[in-house]
Amino acid sequence: MISVFTRIVRGEIPAFKLYEDDLTLSFLDINPAARGHALVIAKPELPGLLDLPPELVSAVALTTQRVARAIVEALKPDGFNVIQNNGAAAGQVVFHYHVHIIPRWEGDRLVKLWRSGTMSMDDLRAVADEILAHI
Ligand code: AMP
Repeated sequence: MISVFTRIVRGEIPAFKLYEDDLTLSFLDINPAARGHALVIAKPELPGLLDLPPELVSAVALTTQRVARAIVEALKPDGFNVIQNNGAAAGQVVFHYHVHIIPRWEGDRLVKLWRSGTMSMDDLRAVADEILAHI
């Protein structure tokens, strides 16, 4: 089944497009968390970050910076979040790689994604070692 984003790439359903090149497309999120909430997608229908070849990782990052800069210049937010969900457990709903750019204003009601926790030095070292074995 093709994704809703592939249908946008193909022009089968409308979107408020902000930028397009051979590898990426950016358009407004249809259910925005904030005014100017934009998405940047990789045109090929690949589900998550780990599925992307390096050139697509780079292309999406460059488009994200370009669109974020335009949003900042146009809308003058106090800041912005760049968020990318991988997997249903992480909140991913559309399984076609995309990055969210969400403008933020002081006092807006959006919440931070996590609460800071605490971890012992031993536990931090242990998890670092687990990851390092795969780098
Ligand atoms: P995620 O939870 O990271 O998979 O986010 C998917 C996002 O896609 C949501 O924020 C939706 O509002 C957005 N979305 C779904 N369908 C469309 C559409 N047709 N046009 C624009 N944005 C969409």
